[in-house]
Amino acid sequence: MATQYEVEHNVQFAETQPRSRRVNMDSFFSLLNRISDSGTATPHNNPHATPTLPDMANVFRLLQDQMQTLASTAPTAENRTFLLELIDALDQDILDPPDRLRGVSQEFLDSLDRVNRKKLRGDDDCAICKIPYLDDPYCLVVELPCKGAHRFDLECVGPWLRSKGTCPMCREEMGKKKVAVVQEDDEDDDMDMIYA
Ligand SMILES: [Zn+2]
Ligand SMILES: [Zn+2]
Repeated sequence: MATQYEVEHNVQFAETQPRSRRVNMDSFFSLLNRISDSGTATPHNNPHATPTLPDMANVFRLLQDQMQTLASTAPTAENRTFLLELIDALDQDILDPPDRLRGVSQEFLDSLDRVNRKKLRGDDDCAICKIPYLDDPYCLVVELPCKGAHRFDLECVGPWLRSKGTCPMCREEMGKKKVAVVQEDDEDDDMDMIYA
């Protein structure tokens, strides 16, 4: 431990550079994983998968904290307004939590289209954190399956998608694609199997 601090002053300037406005969401994800039924082998038979309403309210409170933190240091008025709208929407979920999370699964997040760096322009930025994507040499940008094909840093939009299940920009529900992925084979496939 002492060794870590001894070397710290050598890299202090690089480390204190605010190159990211992203908020640590560890407590959000640990709560979400505890109450979420995704990832368990028997999702519908797991009694621990039924979250309590206070748990639900806390999920949205932690998500609201993320947006509050970003709003408090918003670089533009537009960004601040956008974040305050998200914060307002979450008030309702905190006051009157739903009995089921409508968010998408982690598998859905993992399957989102990643935007190649070569397709990003220098001034393209994430609507949530307003940091230009290319400022981060390891940026992970996803494109949502909404009509607007809205893009965000995966890290910025992940918590919202997992709990709200909508595009933060246009509020289009992501659920449809998720359902389509887990649905049984469609009719054409069934016909193929029958007549093969
Ligand atoms: Zn971002
Ligand atoms: Zn959208």
